[in-house]
Parts: sequence; C-alpha cells; structure tokens
Amino acid sequence: MSNSPLTPGIVPGRLPAEAYARNFADHEPALDRHEARVAADRCYFCHDAPCITACPTSIDIPLFIRQIATGTPEAAATTIWSQNILGGICARVCPTETLCEEACVREAAEGKPVEIGRLQRYATDVAMAKGLHPFTRGTPTGKRVAVVGAGPAGLACAHRLAMHGHDVVIYERRPKAGGLNEYGIASYKATNGFAQKEVDWLLSIGGIELRCGVELGRDVTLAELEAGYDAVFLGIGLAGVNALRAAGEDKAGVRDAVDFIAELRQTADLSTLPIGRDVVVIGGGMTAVDAAVQSKLLGAETVTIVYRRGQEKMSASAYEQEHATSAGVRIICNAMPVAIHGNGAVREVEFAYTQETPEGLKSTGETFRLKADQVFKAIGQTLAGAPEGLAVQGGKLAGHQGKVWAGGDCAAGGEDLTVTAVAEGRDAAEAIHKHLMA
Ligand SMILES: Cc1cc2nc3c(=O)[nH]c(=O)nc-3n(C[C@H](O)[C@H](O)[C@H](O)COP(=O)(O)OP(=O)(O)OC[C@H]3O[C@@H](n4cnc5c(N)ncnc54)[C@H](O)[C@@H]3O)c2cc1C
Ligand code: SF4
Repeated sequence: MSNSPLTPGIVPGRLPAEAYARNFADHEPALDRHEARVAADRCYFCHDAPCITACPTSIDIPLFIRQIATGTPEAAATTIWSQNILGGICARVCPTETLCEEACVREAAEGKPVEIGRLQRYATDVAMAKGLHPFTRGTPTGKRVAVVGAGPAGLACAHRLAMHGHDVVIYERRPKAGGLNEYGIASYKATNGFAQKEVDWLLSIGGIELRCGVELGRDVTLAELEAGYDAVFLGIGLAGVNALRAAGEDKAGVRDAVDFIAELRQTADLSTLPIGRDVVVIGGGMTAVDAAVQSKLLGAETVTIVYRRGQEKMSASAYEQEHATSAGVRIICNAMPVAIHGNGAVREVEFAYTQETPEGLKSTGETFRLKADQVFKAIGQTLAGAPEGLAVQGGKLAGHQGKVWAGGDCAAGGEDLTVTAVAEGRDAAEAIHKHLMA
C-alpha cells in the first residue's frame, strides 16, 4: 500500500487491500430461517394494517409475514412480487423507517417496528435462490409496447406488460439494465451483483427484448417509437444535475456525486478508485449521504456534508443521517457554498451561513472555509433529454399523453424512490393494457 488516508490529493489505494471488501460488505446481512421466524412472530397481523397503506406498492405485508411464520417463504415471495416485482432490491434499499416500518403499530407502541424490510429480503432471497419465478407470460395479444429506460420503472412496466401477453422492447442507453439500482444505489446495499441478478430473473418471464446502448433522442426518436408500437412508456429517470452556482465550480476535483457513485458501482476493484483526502459533499439527500459514506469507506481522511437548510429539512432520513455520522462523516447545516478556491484544482470551499427569512433563504454574511481536494455536488437531479413536445408539470413529464405514458423519477407526482418507480411502472402497464384491450 503506497497511499494512506493522509496522502494529499485524489489518489487510489488509501486503505489496505482487505479493508475494501470489509467496508463494502452487505450493510444489513440477511436473516437466517430461525431469525426470520422470530421476527415474523412479532407481527400482530393487523386488520386494516397501516403498513400496507404506507407501502407505495401496497404489498399485503401481514399476509407475507404470516406465510413466513408458517414456514412458506416461497408463498411470501409470491405475495410480495405480485405487487412489487422488484421486491428483492426494494427490501435492500427502501427507507422503511419512513414507510412501512414507521407506520407499524409496534413502532408506535414500543419504538421497535416489525422488521418488514428484512423479512421481505428473506422471502425473496429464499425464493430466488430456488429459481422460483411464479409468473408466466400471458397469451400473446399481438400488441407491441416500447419501454424507454431499464430502471425500476421501466422494468416493472415491462414485466407487467409481458404478464398481460404484450410484446415489449426496452430501449436503454447504458450498457447494462437496472437504472440506478445498477448505477446509483450505495454499493453496500446491493452487494454481489444483486441488481443484475434481479434483472435477469425479471426478464426470465419472456416476451421482453432488451436493447442496451440505444438512446432515445440519439438513436431513435419518439415519433419512430409511436409509429412502430401500440404504446410507449418513458421511464428515463432524471439525467440532469443542478449546478451549484458558486464561483469556481469548474475547478478540477469538483464533480457530480451521481457520476462518482456510478463509477464506484462499476469498479470491480475499489482499491483502484481514486478518492480525495478531504472530501466535501454539498447537498442533503440520499445521494449526498451515499457519496459521503462511500468516500469515507474508500479511505478519505475527512468527509463533510454541507447542507444549506436546517437538519430537519434534509431529505435523507434521520436513520441515514445517523448512518453517515456513525461512518465518521461530519454534517454541517445552514450553510451554502459561495466559492471554490484553488489554483486549477480545488483546495478550499468557502461557505456562508444561512438563515430562513420570509423572503427565502438568505446568507447571514458570515463565512467559513473547508479544506477540500474533492467536492461532490449532490444538490438534486433534473429532467434532461426528454422528447420535445411532451407536457411537463413542475419540471417532470405528465403521466399520460396520447400513446405515451411516463413513470418513475421522470414523471410528475410521487417521491423519487425505487419503490415508487416500481409502483408507477406497474400502474402504467395496467393503464396501457386497459387502453390496448379496450
Ligand atoms: C445516488 C442515489 C442513491 C439512491 N438511493 C436510493 C435508496 O437507497 N433507496 C431508494 O428507494 N431510492 C434511492 N434512490 C432513488 C432511486 O434510485 C430512484 O428513485 C429510482 O431509481 C427511479 O427509477 P426510474 O426507473 O424512474 O429511473 P432510473 O433508475 O434513473 O432509470 C432510468 C433509466 O433510463 C435510462 N435512460 C435515460 N434516458 C434515456 C434515453 N434517452 N434513452 C434510453 N434510456 C434512457 C437510464 O440510463 C436509466 O437506466 C437513489 C438515487 C440516487 C441518485
Ligand atoms: S402494522 Fe406492524 S404489526 Fe401490524 S400488520 Fe403491519 S407489520 Fe404487522
């Protein structure tokens, strides 16, 4: 090992080789059979269960937990997948602490919810390991649907359309399918190539052709898709990133957090991935937390998240914030970047403290500087590359326009979460099916 956490600049191999496997190991290891039965026994199997309402895909949670409790995890997986075909990744990445587990009556009573996410993972892992795929392709209808984007929304839409017997072609601009499951989610949440395994498993229903490396707008136009197919689903996510609007943003060492994470996810040997000694992450959401935690795990000496508003306004949940701080990340709130200093490459970031005023967020005029050789911008993604002429509401595509449906992060309404994208893709497929069969 030639480098250490103290080596200046952006360099690879700050840690001993064996540290990478340990640092990026499964963040929440799977339950075994006995642990799953014990966890399932804590469920009250509530009538009108609030956990179901809190799940964007409305999985029948008490039913699948009862199926685990009675020793039939395969049946539990079928219950999960019938509502959420990406139940395996969702079990790993859903912020359950703000969804089903927050709503669980045992959370209200004891501050300790039933471990719904981990139970969901147990059931889907057991069933996938046995090669179970409990759905078959419907009788062919002769209808053809183009799906653009092979992220959670596009994949969920394609699978549901295949179940109804429609022929689906997915157009994906990246070399691999999975969307942010493959290129965005933190490494330690989806280990051992799980995202690709789940894509392969999902496509095994048949009737879905995946064309990777094909970009809408570059290789194919919306007009061509509308002419060649009976319906089109757009699940293109949010490819644009917001600018900091701070002087010096173009200095070397300043980078979009999503690009860094995508590179990290595609790097087989993490000891080769360069990382700064002093890393500053600007933003307050999941992307900021993931970039910061993974920088620390790669061996950065100091990692600081700086967020412009109060901590309670951060979109990363309290659980995620705690995850960051327990990994050694410092969080500074109520400060916004005003300038990036350095001669060619970043050396320091200057921030101004902020205060909320009736006219909006304002600088107090007091500034401070943080040493930095790498800066990640994680201040939100925006719709980019959407076909012209489609209606946009609040910066996102309207859900349905003519032959075109949209869902997931690129579509108006709903939170930007994997599970929400799955729900929207599935629901769009049902709407398309109804439309095609009318
Ligand atoms: C860093 C990061 C971490 C996250 N962590 C979590 C988490 O832990 N838990 C959680 O629930 N959510 C998380 N999210 C949010 C979650 O990943 C998204 O909400 C979800 O992936 C949205 O799914 P989607 O299918 O709408 O879009 P995406 O996953 O973005 O997929 C869109 C797909 O469309 C493709 N595409 C785009 N334009 C074109 C085009 N013109 N032609 C062809 N293909 C195109 C893209 O390459 C991509 O594969 C995270 C997001 C980020 C950025
Ligand atoms: S709210 Fe909690 S206890 Fe009730 S059914 Fe859901 S998981 Fe079980």
